[in-house]
Amino acid sequence: MHVPKNICTINTILKQAGYQCYIVGGAVRNTVAGIPPTDYDLATDAPPQEVQRLFHRTVPTGIDHGTVTILLGGGQYEITTFRTESTYSDSRHPDKVEFSSSIEEDLSRRDFTMNALAWNVSEARLIDLYEGADAIRSGMIIAIGSPAERFFEDPLRILRACRFAAQLGFTVENATKEAAVASVQDLRKISCERVRDEFSKLVMGKFCAQGLFLLRDLGILPVLFPELHQCTGVFQKGSHAFDVFEHSVYACEGAPEEDIVLRLAALFHDLGKPASAAIANDGTISFHGHETIGADITRKLMSRLKYPKQIIRDTLHLVRQHMFNYTDEWTDAAVRRFIARVGTEHLENLIMLRRADSYGLERRPLPLEYVKTLQSRITGLLSDEAAVKLKDLAVNGSDLMEQGIPAGPLLGVILDQLLETVLDDPEMNTREKLIPLAKNLYRELRSRES
Ligand code: ATP
Ligand code: MG
Repeated sequence: MHVPKNICTINTILKQAGYQCYIVGGAVRNTVAGIPPTDYDLATDAPPQEVQRLFHRTVPTGIDHGTVTILLGGGQYEITTFRTESTYSDSRHPDKVEFSSSIEEDLSRRDFTMNALAWNVSEARLIDLYEGADAIRSGMIIAIGSPAERFFEDPLRILRACRFAAQLGFTVENATKEAAVASVQDLRKISCERVRDEFSKLVMGKFCAQGLFLLRDLGILPVLFPELHQCTGVFQKGSHAFDVFEHSVYACEGAPEEDIVLRLAALFHDLGKPASAAIANDGTISFHGHETIGADITRKLMSRLKYPKQIIRDTLHLVRQHMFNYTDEWTDAAVRRFIARVGTEHLENLIMLRRADSYGLERRPLPLEYVKTLQSRITGLLSDEAAVKLKDLAVNGSDLMEQGIPAGPLLGVILDQLLETVLDDPEMNTREKLIPLAKNLYRELRSRES
């Protein structure tokens, strides 16, 4: 295993003080799986206070649980003192955290055999007490010891199994799967932040479809994501071979990996379909207004999981705008209005969402010639520097106030109408033309008010 220089330094410092140092967790698992490690979790028998004493710069990240972050050479390394965890009366936190001096004991409290590997840095030796390397080579997620007990201790492990399936393309072993199904209700006890963090990793996984189908098959959807559960079994005639849930899963797979906003927008874009489904006399189904209903449902779901506000806003916006229906009949004014409605900063994402949505129809990329046409028209219009937002107008609020239009709601209405005019006819975007227009509008609006 390749050990980065900073970790060698950490190992040397600990060793000189008489302590051990192991690389554990994802870095060892990924190395065995042939995936380059990203972050390194370390384990030691040194008590947290000793770690803080031995290293100049540390952060007490999770000091109660024995975790300290060492800052060294521009990197951050989480190091956790060996632990034993005995009883979990609330299925969430061990009743007491006890430190241990044995790596074997520490490995025995971990979740899955593939995660219970340790690399002894000094001896360059792999410790594998639970046949974890074999599990990795055969792509199996297997709980350590009794799966039922492991899931009772910490139900989040059920979701972690799905997350690892989504990241690694692994399969959950049968006994582990059965215990997971039996314990899904306990997932209600888990804090939304822990659920969110695992869910985000799952959604961004290379094999997200596998992970999302596992959520469905283990019975997790009704417990944690009822909005997605509602989409299962909702069939759509016509171009769709899949039910709404399956289509959403494949759309998610068709969105760029590692982009949380696009992955979530793709997964949630049709959440409004179950509530808006209407069957006509001829048997055709329509989902009128599902993008608006879907945006509301998405907001509730994402707020419940406490996603950051900006991520919620960007995802909602994409869900709400995903139904644009471009044809060659669109005039330049129509394309400019589309740009104005979507916002230049969201255009690329909305187009990627459309590609993902269409990937989700047949689980393969479709050519989408009209999207290429729309894109090149957008590029052309934007390079003309035509106004597409209020800021691009040749006049602003203070200019209008100087002309005697008072600050207030009317001023906003007038500016919006000026933008509409300019979207229709970019030639209108001069002070000379807009100021008289604004004054006229103001007079008209005031006389309507009185
Ligand atoms: P990643 O690559 O996402 O960091 P990871 O396996 O390192 O994957 P972490 O959440 O960083 O995952 O956890 C590090 C290690 O700590 C895991 O490999 C596992 O051994 C152990 N671990 C983490 N969470 C739990 C848990 N809820 N129950 C038991 N062991 C856990
Ligand atoms: Mg890790």
